[in-house]
Amino acid sequence: MTDHRADHDPDCLFCKIVAKQIPSRMVYEDDEFYAFHDISPWAPVHFLLIPKAHIASMAQVTQAHAALMGRMMALVPVLALQAGCRPYPEGGFRLVTNTGAEGGQEVRHLHFHIMGGPRPWLRG
Ligand code: AMP
Ligand code: ZN
Repeated sequence: MTDHRADHDPDCLFCKIVAKQIPSRMVYEDDEFYAFHDISPWAPVHFLLIPKAHIASMAQVTQAHAALMGRMMALVPVLALQAGCRPYPEGGFRLVTNTGAEGGQEVRHLHFHIMGGPRPWLRG
């Protein structure tokens, strides 16, 4: 089935994951957001939280996205605990958003990395 949503990029890996054209291990889903485990985790808990709408990166975020981004940020602590990060302050998590080539971004669909769990971690 072809997806004609204007906010969907048919060539984007994470848009394909949102559309379930590529499988993923889901952490959370609602109308606006999707969260799934990173395929190559750096930490005992490592998942990605993305808006379903295709926004390429933080570099494209404007005041028009303020409410959406606020809701995305507010999901982070809830999902971190649900995914197995231990409570603050003994536990906690790391929130990372790589942006652009020099920011280390590989997939050009805005995503938050949320990492946590007991140390040592593989990276970070
Ligand atoms: P970044 O380098 O910030 O763009 O992060 C992209 C992340 O996506 C990396 O941590 C990858 O391991 C992860 N990744 C790539 N393909 C998949 C996939 N099919 N399912 C889950 N995570 C993926
Ligand atoms: Zn996309």
